[in-house]
This record gives sequence, C-alpha cells and structure tokens, in this order.
Amino acid sequence: MALVACTDCGAQISDKAPTCIKCGAPRGQAADLPGVVTTQQTAKKYKGLQLVAVLLCAAGTVSCVAKEIPASALLWTLGFVLYVAARFSAWWRHG
Ligand SMILES: [Zn+2]
Repeated sequence: MALVACTDCGAQISDKAPTCIKCGAPRGQAADLPGVVTTQQTAKKYKGLQLVAVLLCAAGTVSCVAKEIPASALLWTLGFVLYVAARFSAWWRHG
C-alpha cells in the first residue's frame, strides 16, 4: 500500500482508497473510469469530423471574402452538414 496526496486537499491517503478520508474528494481523474475512457476514444473520430467541418466553414469564409460566392456557399453547406452529422453520430453513440 502506498500513500498518495489528495488532489483536492493534499492529505496523504491510501492509493487503494476510492475517496479522500479527509475531504471526501474522489481520488484520481475522472478519465480513470472505464466508461469515460471508452467515450473519449470513440469521441476522437467525431472530433476529427468536426475539425474537418470547421475547416470547410473556414474555407467557405475565405471564399466569401474572395468574392467566390458559389464556392463559399458549397463549402459552408458541406461543413454545416458534416458538423451536424458528426454531432448526431456522437449523440447517437454516447447518448
Ligand atoms: Zn482530500
């Protein structure tokens, strides 16, 4: 058994203890929980999609500034649809 410092109050607590005996704070990061880790791994795919969507919208904005209105409208529409699809997929999978 090893002693670790509580992340909230700094008290020395057992590394086997689920919560701090002094302040009651849960020990360790929330990411240590299996469900959260799984969600973060699958969420990376959706974050990638959202990044592409944001880049498409940014390209659309640049096209608009460059007076390339048809290209701008197309890029914005693609970006918006992709963003909504990514958000919906993430919601569908994670609730
Ligand atoms: Zn504590």
